[in-house]
Amino acid sequence: MVNRSQNLLVLVCSAMTFLAGGSPVAAQLTPAAPAPIPMAQAGGDNGALAKDATGWLADLIKINTTNPPGNEQAAANYIADVLRKEGITSEFLEVAPGRSALVARLRGSAIANPSRALLLVAHMDVVGVEKSRWTVDPFAAVEKNGILYGRGAIDDKGLLAADLAAFIALKRANVHLNRDVIFLATCDEEQGGEGSIKVLIAKYWDKFAAGFALNEGGRVALKKGKVQYVAVQASEKVPANVAVIAKGTSGHASMPTKDNAVVHLATAVARIGTYSAPVHLNTVVRRYFEQIAPLEDEEISKWIRSLDTTDRGEHAQKVVSDANPMWNSMLRDSVTPTMLAAGVRANVIPGEARANLNIRLLPGDTLDALIGDLTKLVNDPQVRFEVQPDGGLAAPPSSLESDLYNTISRVASREFGNVPAVPFQSTGATDSAQLRLHNVQAYGFKPFALEDEDERRMHGDDERIPLAAFSKGVDVLTKVVAEFAATR
Ligand SMILES: [Zn+2]
Repeated sequence: MVNRSQNLLVLVCSAMTFLAGGSPVAAQLTPAAPAPIPMAQAGGDNGALAKDATGWLADLIKINTTNPPGNEQAAANYIADVLRKEGITSEFLEVAPGRSALVARLRGSAIANPSRALLLVAHMDVVGVEKSRWTVDPFAAVEKNGILYGRGAIDDKGLLAADLAAFIALKRANVHLNRDVIFLATCDEEQGGEGSIKVLIAKYWDKFAAGFALNEGGRVALKKGKVQYVAVQASEKVPANVAVIAKGTSGHASMPTKDNAVVHLATAVARIGTYSAPVHLNTVVRRYFEQIAPLEDEEISKWIRSLDTTDRGEHAQKVVSDANPMWNSMLRDSVTPTMLAAGVRANVIPGEARANLNIRLLPGDTLDALIGDLTKLVNDPQVRFEVQPDGGLAAPPSSLESDLYNTISRVASREFGNVPAVPFQSTGATDSAQLRLHNVQAYGFKPFALEDEDERRMHGDDERIPLAAFSKGVDVLTKVVAEFAATR
């Protein structure tokens, strides 16, 4: 225990030397460099922490929190026990009967100053599995060749365990904090229903009010074993669902009609499939493309640099959009048909046919304008659009100048071998939008270096995390938190 304390303090102190503009820190902190003895010890310390964190991650995977129903209470109980053993008191925040988030706080001063506080947030629930498509039991935390398999390994129990580790590291080392650090494990992120962060904020905001937050949403991009860049999520697209509804005359299928709802819906969906919304470059996306341009091969880099030019802009937007579906979606509102429903019997012409469009708006764009475009494109009086009530809210982006943004960028860049840290607008939604609407500078920073192939297993089959990437992530996250919240 004592050793651990001393070691983390050495680590924090080294970081502080860096902040104070001391000797070349890369030499001190890169394990390969001839490091002074104290740093070697610090590495050992974080090794022990990472080992504990790996155990917590495996245990959390074994607690099946598939949402629905979520069953997050079991995970919350487990985390409360881990914290109790470390001498940290936590509190359950009940969001629905039998369903609680968990909050714990390390104080920076006697009088709390929420605007300075740092919130470490991760969700406990996971999406379901198609068990027959997995090669291992998704809830057994199976380890094979140094890789841990299980639902939630990446989304989001990996970060949950890493948050827990970074939080506990501060406590073990008895670090003097310059701000409160709050650990929050949330429910119902995947469904966004009765137990979601929206409900949690409405009921318990004063329990975890903070000016800064670290959440999921960003990534450390690994290609052929080499980290390419760190993406720090500072903004996200806004989800919405819109029903496309075609009406026609119902009747006997032996007598075809011109106003068949199925035919009109199919034609409408086919036209919608050709739609491409206009490109809008906001600050986060502009900075992202500026900073990744030098990392891409010469040809695509040339087009990325031309995105905003008057003469070649339009062609560049097409080339860049075609090169990568994520880039396409970062540049514009997206419309994806996802569900079709029509008919009750094989021999009956139905009076109505419906499709669902899953829409992701750029923050600031409106659904009305988009539906106006689609209405013109479909151009069919038998077809109408109906906005579904489950849409998200647009939030302002987090600042790219804040102390926390700078700390994440500096530490992550340094720790992953001086790679660029770039701001990122995720195409998917996270809890950060709700936090940003409460004036929180929230950033998505998932500190695990993952190949695209592993990244894509999120919500898919055989979700997994290489244990080396997890341990390194725990270490980097701990350093980010220590350098942001420890007294210099
Ligand atoms: Zn998630």
